[in-house]
Amino acid sequence: MGRQHMRAKKSDVAIIGAGIIGCAIARELSFYDLKVSVLEKEHDAGWGTTKANSGIIHAGYAGEKGTLKLRLCHKGNLLFRKAARELSIPFKQTGSLLNITDTGYLKNLEALYEQGRQNGLRGLRLITDNRAIKELEPNISKDVAASLHASEAAVTSPYEACLAFYENALFNGAEFFFDFPVESISREGAQGFCIRGKEKLLEADIIINAAGIHSARVASMIDDGSFKIIPVKGQYILFDKQCSGYVNLVNFMMPEGADTRSKGILVSPTVAGNFFAGPDYEPVSTDDLSTSRQAIGDIKANVHKMYPDIPYEKAITYFAGLRAVSDTGDFIIGPSLRDPMFFNACGIQSPGLTCCLSIAQLIKAMVLERKGRAGKRKSYEPTRKAIEKFETKDIMAKKALHKKERLYGEIVCRCENVTEAEVVEAIRRGSDTLDGIKFRTRAGMGRCQGGYCAIKVMRIINRETGIPFEKITKCGSDSYIARYKI
Ligand SMILES: Cc1cc2nc3c(=O)[nH]c(=O)nc-3n(C[C@H](O)[C@H](O)[C@H](O)COP(=O)(O)OP(=O)(O)OC[C@H]3O[C@@H](n4cnc5c(N)ncnc54)[C@H](O)[C@@H]3O)c2cc1C
Repeated sequence: MGRQHMRAKKSDVAIIGAGIIGCAIARELSFYDLKVSVLEKEHDAGWGTTKANSGIIHAGYAGEKGTLKLRLCHKGNLLFRKAARELSIPFKQTGSLLNITDTGYLKNLEALYEQGRQNGLRGLRLITDNRAIKELEPNISKDVAASLHASEAAVTSPYEACLAFYENALFNGAEFFFDFPVESISREGAQGFCIRGKEKLLEADIIINAAGIHSARVASMIDDGSFKIIPVKGQYILFDKQCSGYVNLVNFMMPEGADTRSKGILVSPTVAGNFFAGPDYEPVSTDDLSTSRQAIGDIKANVHKMYPDIPYEKAITYFAGLRAVSDTGDFIIGPSLRDPMFFNACGIQSPGLTCCLSIAQLIKAMVLERKGRAGKRKSYEPTRKAIEKFETKDIMAKKALHKKERLYGEIVCRCENVTEAEVVEAIRRGSDTLDGIKFRTRAGMGRCQGGYCAIKVMRIINRETGIPFEKITKCGSDSYIARYKI
């Protein structure tokens, strides 16, 4: 699956942004007889908010009544689990606990239980006995007085989900244009839109704005100033896989007092087997992804009530993600008031990952209505196979993989047991950067954070693609790593 290079072309639909929302929409639309293009400023899919979040597929009981965030969540959960099967996306139904230590908040748990029940959730129950909670979570504090248990909650890998949508949409005929930062949009009358990036140009009848924290800027290119996006940073502490099993379910701490802006601090397993604590909630003015000692200290203080004995010496890294918080407080999905052929899918903060497919279906219905119902593509393929991960196989399957492909016998990343065969396959699927390989294979995600494997991965990129060693980047643009071949 190679990368496409830009010529002046005409598309039925141009999607701006290849995050989880843009790629989910591209997949939905690629099932129809439509020319779909996705324009992304970065060098790969899923490098915005999609790469750094909690990775939770929420059950769907939370959110203010009447909001899209609430309405689309449970449906999104059901659609996501179906897509996870079709596209081999890592997915684990862990269930979640919303915990309280102060019984004064019991009525809030009861209200959420009732809201969840009305939303059609199954497997929702209130637990008011610490012993019963500890049976599910042996390491939880004895001070946790009650929990709302939602068995439909799950964890996934958000970037692998995004890459799965991308590959499936690509297979079904969608075109992706990376390194295409959209800089201006003009209306050419009945001819549609002209979208311009640096030295690049694309024409389209319909535009879908899925540009995440930059979506208000993209909307302003057609003079749509109807909403603002405030980036809100959330920082995390990620723990080593050695601690696998320390937490079993997604654990939320009910935000106490007046602070109900986010879902509160979490302690949760990842789908890969480690666990994390975070995120906090800090409005910022730029694309600031730095982490700070102060914020990490605050996270530790906040999770202490729920998990007093976290083994912080096993932390392997800190990282941050940016929520695209809209000034309406809800998702903004629908045609712009400025132009009926320009659709916004903006302000997609949490639970945007969970809702990606319910949002995509909503946008699809609007696009098909405007386009006068395009027919289904005859040959569309809803499934896609993931790269076979050596680490996740049992011994017999490992032997079989090695027999089939000798490069499955060469370990490149020792922390995550990633083999050379996986790295080569990631390159074959279009990746030529360290981050691209990391998000496809997990090489560099473990305890040494790439200290051991980065050079090995670079040598394989150099060998397989012919990109000079000193031109290989971490994440595109000028993020070069080495000055000469090592
Ligand atoms: C801390 C945190 C925790 C979260 N936890 C959860 C969770 O557990 N569960 C859940 O359901 N949701 C969660 N979310 C929300 C979820 O991560 C987001 O809703 C989702 O990732 C948004 O995807 P997106 O595609 O809209 O944005 P992005 O992934 O940011 O994609 C937008 C893309 O547009 C591109 N772009 C921007 N401007 C331009 C331009 N001018 N030209 C071309 N391309 C452009 C960007 O490069 C980017 O790739 C969390 C979010 C955060 C920040």
